[in-house]
Amino acid sequence: MIELDAIVIGAGMSGMYQLHLLRGLGLTVQALEAGSEVGGTWYWNRYPGCRFDSESYSYCFSFDEEMLQEWDWSEHFAPQPETFAYLRRVADKLDLRKDIRFATRVVSAHWDEADGRWVVRCDDGYAVRAKYLVTAIGILSIPVIPDFPGRGSFAGASFHTSDWPRGGIDLSGKRVAVVGTGATGIQVIQEVAKIAGHLTVVQKEPNWSKPLCNAPIAPDEMADIKARYADIFESCRSSDAGFLHNWDPRSTSDVSDAEREAFYEQKYGERGFAFWLSNFADLSVDEKAARLASDFLARKIRERVTDPETAEKLIPTDHLFGTRRVPMETGYYEVFNQPNVDLVDVNADPLRAITPGGMTFDSGFVPLDVIIYATGFDAVRGAFDRIEIMGQSGLTLREKWDDGPVTFLGLQSHGFPNFFMIVGPHSGATFCNVPRCAEQNVEFIADLVGHMERRGLARCEATVAAEQDWTKQVLDQADLLLAGKTNSWFTGINHNIAGRNERKMLLYTLGQQFFLQVCRETVEQDYRGFDMAPARSAA
Ligand code: NAP
Repeated sequence: MIELDAIVIGAGMSGMYQLHLLRGLGLTVQALEAGSEVGGTWYWNRYPGCRFDSESYSYCFSFDEEMLQEWDWSEHFAPQPETFAYLRRVADKLDLRKDIRFATRVVSAHWDEADGRWVVRCDDGYAVRAKYLVTAIGILSIPVIPDFPGRGSFAGASFHTSDWPRGGIDLSGKRVAVVGTGATGIQVIQEVAKIAGHLTVVQKEPNWSKPLCNAPIAPDEMADIKARYADIFESCRSSDAGFLHNWDPRSTSDVSDAEREAFYEQKYGERGFAFWLSNFADLSVDEKAARLASDFLARKIRERVTDPETAEKLIPTDHLFGTRRVPMETGYYEVFNQPNVDLVDVNADPLRAITPGGMTFDSGFVPLDVIIYATGFDAVRGAFDRIEIMGQSGLTLREKWDDGPVTFLGLQSHGFPNFFMIVGPHSGATFCNVPRCAEQNVEFIADLVGHMERRGLARCEATVAAEQDWTKQVLDQADLLLAGKTNSWFTGINHNIAGRNERKMLLYTLGQQFFLQVCRETVEQDYRGFDMAPARSAA
């Protein structure tokens, strides 16, 4: 069996950077990647309309100044093909592919206590052993499709958005259904509506969505961005969630009604997540504040959608603005003014069955050529559950987390020595502009591994006390937030997966500053919370 120092599972943005840093320590490292190219999220998700919701220049790798100066972003929110090209270019530049085994899905990872090694096995029989195992498997990487009656009988093309046909699919003039109206559904609906002969949008609960306000980046603007990269990353670092947006320190009730309306109007017209993440600071905790912001958005929907009945169907009633991930839109609401688009609210008009020719709702049959499932993911813990990760006592991580993930800093779980997670459950990188905080996770792990190697340490494991304390903090904080009391993938709810119906926060919501501070203190106090031990003597 091949013997290495470290294995990284996944070659998306986090895995690529982790491979680069661990190699830089002089270790032998291999990344194992299920796809046939680097890119992770940006490799798998190639549906029309797929693009950043974070400003492009706040999302890219920050560590390579040369690459920052070399790469031009064409739009403030770049489309997927551009991001995918960017990541391929980074892989070329850092010569990463020679240490990535593609088309390789890891099925198990078992800790060999006697040798202090992880034994990793893949779906094609490939097996490898290493002292360190790092997962970079993403928090939204396991697609889920509801088990609709008759789903398999459909005679046309049907697929999940993250499994878009490789060779593309011509939707022009076709009768298409899109199921799901989360961030993905909204992006894909906007594009499909432009070309489909007829589009049926199948909606369970609507989401509060806000204009993306995208625009091309002119050459002189890009030159200015390049000159300001240090400031851009510093702004992200000093914000709560790693974005170029941060809370307004005032409370919603600090201002008059007229001032509030003007403030909302201004934020509605600003780029990206402005209306969410630079809103009044009490938006995330105060129901009245969230209701006022929701009411403003409801008025916008009513203004933009011509048919009042359709407008009401598009206004969420089961949750308030900001309590779930806010989808970004560009002309989404106007799609429902088009004569070729119908909205079906399955709460009022249930989907009874899928047949070879289409969908049968209570109200009647809709003939279809294509069904697109934008029905989300087994978020955050799903990718961990799919690999049999077995620790020192023979317990698997899936079994240990039966009642919900238990981690220290989202980076380690007790009983799984030398096993590190990038953007693991309860990591500071989960509620964050992911690359910004994932870079921190990657650097923390590389520094820790370097520390172990320099001191000749054989194993590192989070203590029980540290992980219990961390998990409690994360769950206690969630109770204070409106998001913690709302059904969404943030709180681990997915009605399409057995056992995912009890709310338990999967994200870290205390803010990046606090997370960074805890990580810094942990290191300064000689990796407090991690048990580190030298190799057992041969005697
Ligand atoms: P999602 O937010 O989980 O949305 C899934 C959608 O499918 C929801 O509207 C859900 O309705 C619907 N659905 C589930 N079961 C259904 C059923 N039986 N019948 C009808 N509808 C059903 O998934 P997503 O849209 O893929 O987004 C996931 C996350 O990916 C986002 O929150 C975001 O973090 C990320 N994302 C990022 C970007 C970006 O940055 N550019 C773009 C896209 C996605 P209910 O809510 O009522 O269950």
